[in-house]
Amino acid sequence: APHPLIMLASALETAKPGDRLIVVGVGDGGDAILLEVGENIGEVRKAPRRGVKGYLETMKPLKNYDDYIRFRNLLGKQRFTRKTSTVTYWRDRKEILPLKGVRCKSCGAVQYPIVRVCYECGSKDNFDEVRLAKRGTIFTFTLDHLVGGDYYATPVPRVVVELEGGGRVFVDMTDCNPEEVKVGMPVELTFRIIHESEGFYQYYWKARPVREKVEVK
Ligand SMILES: [Zn+2]
Repeated sequence: APHPLIMLASALETAKPGDRLIVVGVGDGGDAILLEVGENIGEVRKAPRRGVKGYLETMKPLKNYDDYIRFRNLLGKQRFTRKTSTVTYWRDRKEILPLKGVRCKSCGAVQYPIVRVCYECGSKDNFDEVRLAKRGTIFTFTLDHLVGGDYYATPVPRVVVELEGGGRVFVDMTDCNPEEVKVGMPVELTFRIIHESEGFYQYYWKARPVREKVEVK
């Protein structure tokens, strides 16, 4: 469903003021939207973001069709009955979507997830909320051969990331060869679907290697 909008975002990456763009969605009926690119498009593009082109250039092609079938859930079969909780998602909303942690007002230690007592100095309810950086380095990791859920290709690297500016997160690693994972390796966080249940998609962060352009064949 988001495909036409991703195509639009891609077109806007190279559009000039005055260009006209038509977004057409066809399927069960059709919609067409005619847009004219405004003069501020250059300003908008100054914000640091990778864009559709950047993601295509840094993606890692899948090794085999099995992985594709799994990612797209084409077999419609899961090894586990998934339960999902919109309640916990709501409760943890600060930590999940904007990746917020806390910084201790006494000692400055950045902590994640959000806690009430500082692990460093013991001061209580004395924090500022902070948005954590989406980049860091691998502090430690394990290669999990027994991971459950929708993972069929193992091992899955599970990593503790030391984030730039402080704070550590424990996440799964994706878009990588397990053999390339090393302590100290630079990674970035990427927001991914973890699982789906009863029409609700659970998202969370994963880590991927910081990759400059790779050749896509
Ligand atoms: Zn403290």
